[in-house]
Amino acid sequence: MAQGRYANIIIDISHEKVDKTFQYKIPEKLQSILEEGMCVSVPFGKGNHLRQGYVVEITEKAEFPDDRQKYIEEISTDSVAVEADAIRLAAWMKRNYGSTMIAALKTVLPVKRSMKPKEKKKIVRLMTAEEVRSLLGESERKHQFAKARVLAQLIREPVLPYSLVTGKLNVSSAALCSLQREGVLSIESESYYRNPVKVESARENGKILSPEQERISEKILSDFDAGEKKPCLIHGITGSGKTEVYLSLIEGMAARGKQSIMLIPEIALTYQTLLRFYKRFGDRVSVMNSTLSAGEKYDQYERAKKGEIDVIIGPRSALFVPFPDLGMIVMDEEHESSYKSETMPRFHARETAQELARMKGAALVLGSATPSLEAYYRAQKGEYGLFTLTRRLTGGRLAEVSVVDLRQELKSGNRSIFSRKLQGLMEERLQKKEQTMLFLNRRGYAGFVSCRSCGYVMKCPHCDVSLSHHMGERLVCHYCGYETAKPAKCPSCTSPYLLGFKAGTQQIEEQLRKRFPGISVLRMDKDTTGTKDSYEKILTAFSSGEADVLVGTQMIVKGHDFPNVTLVGVLAADLSLNDSDYRSGERTFQLLVQAAGRAGRGDKPGEVVIQTYRPEHYSIIRAAEQDYQAFYKEEISYRELAGYPPAAHMMAVLVTSPDEKRGESLAERIAKAARALGEKEQAAKGGGTACAPAGLRIIGPARASIGKINDVYRFVIYCKSADYRQLTGIKDKIEQYLGTLTPGEESVQFDFNPMDSY
Ligand code: ADP
Ligand code: ZN
Ligand code: ZN
Repeated sequence: MAQGRYANIIIDISHEKVDKTFQYKIPEKLQSILEEGMCVSVPFGKGNHLRQGYVVEITEKAEFPDDRQKYIEEISTDSVAVEADAIRLAAWMKRNYGSTMIAALKTVLPVKRSMKPKEKKKIVRLMTAEEVRSLLGESERKHQFAKARVLAQLIREPVLPYSLVTGKLNVSSAALCSLQREGVLSIESESYYRNPVKVESARENGKILSPEQERISEKILSDFDAGEKKPCLIHGITGSGKTEVYLSLIEGMAARGKQSIMLIPEIALTYQTLLRFYKRFGDRVSVMNSTLSAGEKYDQYERAKKGEIDVIIGPRSALFVPFPDLGMIVMDEEHESSYKSETMPRFHARETAQELARMKGAALVLGSATPSLEAYYRAQKGEYGLFTLTRRLTGGRLAEVSVVDLRQELKSGNRSIFSRKLQGLMEERLQKKEQTMLFLNRRGYAGFVSCRSCGYVMKCPHCDVSLSHHMGERLVCHYCGYETAKPAKCPSCTSPYLLGFKAGTQQIEEQLRKRFPGISVLRMDKDTTGTKDSYEKILTAFSSGEADVLVGTQMIVKGHDFPNVTLVGVLAADLSLNDSDYRSGERTFQLLVQAAGRAGRGDKPGEVVIQTYRPEHYSIIRAAEQDYQAFYKEEISYRELAGYPPAAHMMAVLVTSPDEKRGESLAERIAKAARALGEKEQAAKGGGTACAPAGLRIIGPARASIGKINDVYRFVIYCKSADYRQLTGIKDKIEQYLGTLTPGEESVQFDFNPMDSY
């Protein structure tokens, strides 16, 4: 818990004002109980009227002389519910993930719009149609054509949208005002909340649930009614009807007068998915995503607060939509790494959703075809309820998967990136006019340039990474944007054999055109999807049959259904196994299963070819068998043995500094302090008994795997413990220590159970 004699308090609870704090003294009686995030009443302003505020920081640092500061009056219990919950959640995030209270508050509180609410004006007829008709004749005689156009329209419809009249009918507002003065019509306005997605479609009722689906929906809702609030996980292959279950659950909540949050990875938030929700919930659903303007986002918060919607769909930020009576949080594709925030506070939406659900008494439902180790582990231990959906409801069978050993290919003289098996099957698809997807599980374009004579690798002068080879003989740094022309000779030995290592999606496209002349190819990777729209456009073009082949990175394996795709090729399945972190096996398995799930979604059977240099790796074997349980067993035993999450917890402490020596020295002091703390706790426990819990382990400091970015040096310390609170304890101590240092250019960040290694 934070310590100190002073509390910084915010009075005005809004995103814009969280930096504006007022300092108060903490009275003796509250010293040991006051916590950050609590609501208090304080004497405010000249008259010392009592106002409510929230504690955002407890500190030893006085901002004014002690005698000029007032005391907190008391802890209040009657706080404004919605804000209080947001602030409690922010305090929880701060404690669990390490960040300032201000950064946490900025995460949970909406940004206020700077513009006024959009007004929707309408024109209302005040006379009978007959009376208007006589006026129309008069206007025509007087050649008042604009007036005549409105009148003619008003005969047909008693209410017209203002914008339609001024726009399509080209009637000036002056003309309308004069008609209003004459008492023909009135111009009325109602402020309305912008609804970012307009889908014009008839409402549709749900499908009749299969017995499997029905049982799950029934059980979750009856548990909810009985006050049984254990989170649950629905494990079901793609197409097994999970979304239909979510829809039925959300409907059940709406019938109980409660609202739901539907979390979905941003990339899977396709038009098809949205349409399903709109057909079911009409105006009572809204969407949140990164393409919305601040104003539109704010409108969604307002609509939610007023109870105008039953469900919001969106990525992790949708968690912070302030519903008056939240009943359920659904999290689809819960294994997706985009659920973890990449900025402070580095929260995970799954854990945060669980805390929010606990605070609000809401149900939490997770779903995935390839559950995260975290979720499945909790389900195995009985912390989560587990449900499975086993059948594809649209009849399509799972694809037939074969694994090709690329080493054997090379031995038999095939130097192409396409195995003979894959080439043969693609040939067949071209003849049958069916489609193929080729998938490279590597992020973006990653062709580094090296000298074939001396091995020199072209690196960014500002970052510790190799430069990537782009079109037009340019070398580009993907971390800082540094760009330079490719030199003609090796800077180290002047050899002319400075060549790009070809493995990107661009090269695959080139090779395809060479091998299959006349083939039409669409490519999707970071370079071709600069804007959000282009992603959707490429997928739509492919699904309407505009190309034979779609080549891409992991982006192509998510979302969309392509009924005409009957072949999926994974070009180098083990590329993602070479990532240096403990999640690489899990990531590889998930990607391969998802990729395989893309083949044969329609009524034609599908085939999948997985090309790899490591056909013996269990992630690849189990993915080919599409056997999640077997994969889980092997993966969890490795995590248990090595003490990795979810078997234990891990905290990464990232120290950065523009000065290498100072950064390294700070990292060393932090690691030393953490070790000392661990030894002290161990000693206090009586240390070394046979039943003592797995102790704390501190690894490092070490140079991060990317040791420098943008001329800033990076060092990392890993702390592992079975006890999460031991790690947050160390984090608190480190923060206290940092508070005693004079602020410099060094910065320290925490990342709990990181998704990637540093
Ligand atoms: P998932 O979310 O697991 O991928 P969906 O809910 O999208 O599965 O269902 C896959 C397909 O099966 C969809 O086209 C959906 O309309 C259909 N479907 C789902 N449930 C039923 C049902 N009970 N009866 C008929 N069709 C269903
Ligand atoms: Zn060289
Ligand atoms: Zn760089």
